[in-house]
Order: sequence, then structure tokens, then C-alpha cells
Amino acid sequence: MEIYNEYWEQALEILKSQLSELIFDTWIKGLVPVSMTNDAFILETEFTFIKEVVEDKYIETIERAISFVNGRRPINVKIVLSSDDISEITEDYREEIKPYKNNVLRMENGLMPRYTFENFIVGKNNQMAHAAAVAVSQNPGSSYNPLFLYGGVGLGKTHLMHAIGNEVYKNNPKVKLLYVSCETFTNELISAIRNKNNNGPEKFRQKYRELDVLLIDDIQFISDKIGTQEEFFFTFNDLWEKGKQIVITSDRHPSNIQNLTDRLVSRLASGMTIDISSPDLETRVAILQEKAENQGINIDIEVLNYIAESVKSNVREMEGVLTTVIAYSKLTSNPNEITLDLAMTALKDKIGSSKPEITIEYIQNTVAGYYNFTLEDLCSKKKTKDLALARQIAMYLCRKLLNETLVSIGNSFGGKDHSTVMHAVETVGKKIDESIEFGTTISDIEKIITGK
Ligand code: ADP
Ligand code: MG
Repeated sequence: MEIYNEYWEQALEILKSQLSELIFDTWIKGLVPVSMTNDAFILETEFTFIKEVVEDKYIETIERAISFVNGRRPINVKIVLSSDDISEITEDYREEIKPYKNNVLRMENGLMPRYTFENFIVGKNNQMAHAAAVAVSQNPGSSYNPLFLYGGVGLGKTHLMHAIGNEVYKNNPKVKLLYVSCETFTNELISAIRNKNNNGPEKFRQKYRELDVLLIDDIQFISDKIGTQEEFFFTFNDLWEKGKQIVITSDRHPSNIQNLTDRLVSRLASGMTIDISSPDLETRVAILQEKAENQGINIDIEVLNYIAESVKSNVREMEGVLTTVIAYSKLTSNPNEITLDLAMTALKDKIGSSKPEITIEYIQNTVAGYYNFTLEDLCSKKKTKDLALARQIAMYLCRKLLNETLVSIGNSFGGKDHSTVMHAVETVGKKIDESIEFGTTISDIEKIITGK
């Protein structure tokens, strides 16, 4: 395969993540790479109108993507028609192309180029996390180690983590850095153990312990996996003792991750732990603005406000809604004008369902999920200590957030008596008064439920 095909494949991945599906499918997907030199990349299409639109609207986005793949070296993208004779164009760029090796490394290291500090919007909800992330990226290993970022789904933890990685790389391309999800770490460990005869475990250790920076995402999935916890503990210690930087994210504070060995909890919490909460309206609008600009689309502030008002809890979901509006506008007669009316029509079905209504069942499910129980467990008669407490917390939150009667709450928990519910409400209330930590856990769960 020609090298430019590989470049284009990688660039397509980036473009796919930056453009809406509709734009990507219509204008980008069909382009065919035909040649590449040191500073030019040539793409071909059969259609004049595609050439025109791409040149007019997307050429810079494509150039950025290819330049990234090419180790951030500037590149000119030219769109030619299949009928054109390109020998003359390529004449202009005689120098032979040398693939830029570093970039391949970067990709292997799991970093996603699209998540940077430049396109991360700072608000009250993530100010601290952002500041710590920037500090870490400037001086890996010497400021906050480990840096532990936690918070609900879709609030920018993964984005910040990649931003750290990308920044570290920008400052020092030689750094040995790896981004892995907790799942990948676990799977690699399992296959290393299976490959015992081929020095699997040794290679695994070597790979992780020679790193300068380890970014490990969604560590909560390590709960219950004792073997992985053990190995991670040793990896952690080894890197930490050598002054190497470790960054970890999770959906909750280390002390609230179930079934984690005490020594690991204390390691995880031993550096800087910072939570990210949901962004306020202003920040949400700013995020939408950034996402729209990134796609080269200008949207009225009124429309952005409407979207930001409608989706409160989760940035990822909000982005999805924005994409729907943009895609919808492309289908209408006046694609450059996204009016409030148009947005409302586009989102008729989507908004409302995007934020789940808080019901008893929703609370039960959230609490059960938080403590790794099932809904059936919660509504059963089983009375192990942890389960009984989770049940009481769920009852307490139903009472607090929904103002349901004790009787109807009891009924929804597999037919418990109203006095049981009353007892639960009192017990949890008392515990909150007695222990700050318990109180924080309850308010964390509450935040997950209400999305505030
Ligand atoms: P998490 O890892 O916390 O579940 P992600 O980092 O995957 O969330 O973020 C979800 C989406 O929201 C991403 O596309 C990310 O770029 C975007 N996002 C979240 N917070 C911000 C922010 N402050 N500025 C810009 N984009 C954000
Ligand atoms: Mg994430």
C-alpha cells in the first residue's frame, strides 16, 4: 500500500470525529488520495461540485488532519478531478516524501489528537481539574502525582486526559507515554498471563514500567478484579517511585470504588484528587460555540442557548444534539441558516427524551448501578449489610427527590412496609449528619440522578 493511503486512512479517522456524519459521508468519504509529496497531498474526485464545495469549506480541516498525521508539518491539500492530468501538479513538489515516524508512535500510544487544551472550555465546574491538568502537562512527574480526576459521564475527563498527553508530546516528542482504558489494561494483563511461556507477564511489566507518563482512563472498572488491582498496584508503585507521571480518571472518588483493596485506595488518593461537575449554562453555551466553530459552522447564539438549556447534565449528549441540528439544517433548503425554529423542529423527538425523567425506578437503577447491585437485588428480601444500606439509600433518595408517599415507595421496593421506608429515611439522614464522607457519597449519587 502506498504511504499516502495510510496517511489518508488515519486522516479520515480524525475527520470522521470532527465532522458530522452527514458532512463526512457527503463530501469527504469519497475522496481518493492519489499522490503525496513533502508538502502537498492530492485528493481526487469525479465530481466538479464536490471539488468546489470541499475547496470552499473543508480544505483547511482536511489540511489540519493530514498535517497532524504527518507529525504536524504543514501541508497543502489539492483537490483534482479524475479527468485532470496531475503530473504537472506533482512536478511542483519534487521532493520525495519521508514518512514521519513519530506520528505512528503517537497513534500507537492511544492519544486522540482531537482532544486538546485549546478546544477545552474552562468553566467553574472544571477549573481546578483543568489547572491541574495543565500543570501536569508542563511538568510531568513533578507537580501532582498521581492526578486523579473524577466525575459523571460525558463531563470531559477523557478529553482532559488526552489534552495532557498531546501537550506533553508537543513539548517533548521523545517522551514515552501511553493512554489506556482500564479495560485495555485488564485485557492486556489477561493475555500476558495466558502467554506465560512466551515471557508474557515480563513483557507486560516492561511495557508499563518503562513509561514516563501513564494515562489510565475509567479506573472504576478495576473494582472486583483482584488480579488486575494487584498488578496495577505494582505498576503504580514502580512508576511513582521513579517520579513518573500517572494520571487516572474515574466516575467516582477512589474511596467510593467498590471492592478496591485499601492499599490501592490510599495510593490512588495519595496525590491530587479533583472532581468535575456538570457545566453551568454559560459554560455549556461556550462549549457548543467551540464545537460549532470547530466544524466551521456559525450558529446563532439563540439556538445555542436553546440547546444548552435543553441538555443540562452531559456534554457528550449536548454535542449529539448539536450534530443533529447541523445535519438537519443540511437537508433543508437554506443550509447556511440555522434558526431557532429549525432547531426546535430538528429536536422535536430528541429533547425531552435526552434527559431521563426522575422516577422511583430511575433512582433504584442509579443507586443499584453505583453499588454494583441489580434492580432485583434492591427489591429483594436479601439483607446483607451492603445491600441493605444501598436499599435504604435508594428509599431515602426517592423520598427526598420525588416526595412520593412512604407507602408507594415501599410498594416499589418489592412490597416493603411503609415503616421500613420510614426507618430507611431516618437511618440515612442520621448517617449523613454523622459522617461527612457518607454525606459526600450521597450527594454524589444525587448529582448523578439529577444531573446537576
Ligand atoms: P468523560 O470521559 O468524562 O465521560 P469525555 O471527555 O469523553 O467525557 O467528554 C465527552 C464529550 O464532551 C467530548 O466530545 C468532549 O470533547 C466534550 N467536552 C466535555 N467537556 C468539555 C469542555 N469543557 N470543553 C469542550 N468539550 C468538552
Ligand atoms: Mg471518558
